[in-house]
Amino acid sequence: MPPAWRAQGHPGYPPGTRGALRLGAERTTTAVTRLVTFIRIDLCPRPGIAGMDRMAAIDLLLKRNAELKDAVRGDRSSPRPSLHVAILTCMDARIRVFELFGLLQGESHVLRNAGGVVTDDMIRSLALSQRKLGTKEVLIVQHTECGLNAVTEDSFKDELEADTGIRPPWAVEAFRDVHDNVRQSIRRVRTSQYLPHTDVVRGFVYDVRTGQLTEVS
Ligand SMILES: [Zn+2]
Repeated sequence: MPPAWRAQGHPGYPPGTRGALRLGAERTTTAVTRLVTFIRIDLCPRPGIAGMDRMAAIDLLLKRNAELKDAVRGDRSSPRPSLHVAILTCMDARIRVFELFGLLQGESHVLRNAGGVVTDDMIRSLALSQRKLGTKEVLIVQHTECGLNAVTEDSFKDELEADTGIRPPWAVEAFRDVHDNVRQSIRRVRTSQYLPHTDVVRGFVYDVRTGQLTEVS
């Protein structure tokens, strides 16, 4: 939290953003709804899981959606992230990116792919994020025990080719050292000719066992 916010006794969100929970009943309701949803979905035992053998995952999710129908509201605010930041991270199911940063809906773009690596498609999303939706900072979070650490470029391409007869033209983006991989992703953002804002690009490693973030210098 920036010192100025801390000095104001602010709860951790910049003044004037949707994160300021006291700004209105509607926003408070949204926050409470998120909390209730979080508790119901993430913290409580999941009776639906027991039924997974006979219920497809999407059916289970639709059942939950039907149960939450009154609690989940649309959002009429601007599509421009209020914190003007894009967070890039891995699709790994253990990374609780919203909880990790105390993020509220509407504050950030969250771009996820396998590894949280900066690929051409990530640059495509970032170009739109910066040029059309006003983000200016890039936060990259990769993590320990990533699946891309467990394969090599050739082993996975060999596997796909053996199975399908076609060798994929895209890079798997497998890596050995997650810190080096974060540095490479930072470099790719900083050197992209398509991005107007490359001054504030910071990368971190998230330890999936402890939940700790470590900045990569
Ligand atoms: Zn991963």
